[in-house]
Amino acid sequence: MDAGALRRRNLSAVLELVHRHGGVTRADLTRALGLNRSTIGDLVAVLVEHGWVDERDDAPRSGVGRPSPRVAPSDTRVVAAVNPELDVIDVGLVSLGGQIVARRRVALDHVPSVAETVAITAQTVRELAAEAPHVEVRAVGVAVPGLVRRRDGQVRLAPHLGWREEPLAAPLAEALGMPVSASNDAHLGCRAEQTFGAGVGAGTMLYLNGGPSGIGGGLVVDGRPMDGTAGYAGELGHLGLDPAGPLCACGARGCLEALAPRDALVAAVGLEHPDDDALEEALVAAVAAEDADGAARTEVARQLRWLAVALRGAVNFVNPDRIVLGGHLAALWRCADEAQRASLIADALPASAAEVTIEPAALGAQRLLIGAAELAWDELIADPIDALTTPALAEA
Ligand SMILES: [Zn+2]
Repeated sequence: MDAGALRRRNLSAVLELVHRHGGVTRADLTRALGLNRSTIGDLVAVLVEHGWVDERDDAPRSGVGRPSPRVAPSDTRVVAAVNPELDVIDVGLVSLGGQIVARRRVALDHVPSVAETVAITAQTVRELAAEAPHVEVRAVGVAVPGLVRRRDGQVRLAPHLGWREEPLAAPLAEALGMPVSASNDAHLGCRAEQTFGAGVGAGTMLYLNGGPSGIGGGLVVDGRPMDGTAGYAGELGHLGLDPAGPLCACGARGCLEALAPRDALVAAVGLEHPDDDALEEALVAAVAAEDADGAARTEVARQLRWLAVALRGAVNFVNPDRIVLGGHLAALWRCADEAQRASLIADALPASAAEVTIEPAALGAQRLLIGAAELAWDELIADPIDALTTPALAEA
């Protein structure tokens, strides 16, 4: 490797650690990367000079000697993150370290087309950037409730949105004049939880994402995401559970997502366009207030029974150490009593389920935007100096 390539790799490695941990000391960097102190000092100085990080003297003092300054992510350099859904286009600006610094949910009274999604997204990103003039938007990541070709951000199929073979990343990149990447929402939720949330430190992890467009999934094996041949692995929402069950958007009958739909929970609590945090709060309150045969309680219990059937199969197949439930599935978990929680994997093979812990997503309603932002950060972090040769979002 030539000196230039080695330096790029080291700059990227330093920035990646700062990003993952939301800030680290120089001493941490020296230990983690196996480089000497002067090399770390030099790499940090380059990243400071290019506006990626700041050095702050706020690290806790440990041991003898001078305290090691904390290398913190710059809070002015951001990416835009987008999650188009059936009834809302959710747009945020996300800084290094996975912090959402601005967010707007644009409510819709109809399912958006790709062209509308592109136009609304571009306008909302510009508005958010104009309201925070100190930030510099560098790239965009989109979390799509459907199958997306990673290479070019083409939506192959988003059944609930009615999108089929639609280019998405390309027209949005054109509209905003910056790099845009897109991927499946559940894969990105999985990534966000694995990096910053309930999946940190998991070895083999199953992630189930419940959203308005159904249930998706992500799979991490030995700490690495498993995407399948073309990026479409993990579609746990289409596990077939009941051949005589309701028709699913995929065309089959009795899939998990057809048996445990988010809108049935939303209807049970009577909200309109709730985000996941609002749904969860309302559902927990309704279940606590109701008698045993109340509408919310009955629906929660019914969905938990189907979730248990799905998890039995998934746990037996994958032997995970962690299951993370996101979206309305996290709300189900929060509403469940001890017996219901235990029942979720009670029928799995004892050996396969022995080391499993089940956790609700820790990032709540923010997980998909944080995951979408990860996609946008990938290329910037891979080569932080070269990335700055492309202009940031232009005022217009
Ligand atoms: Zn299906």
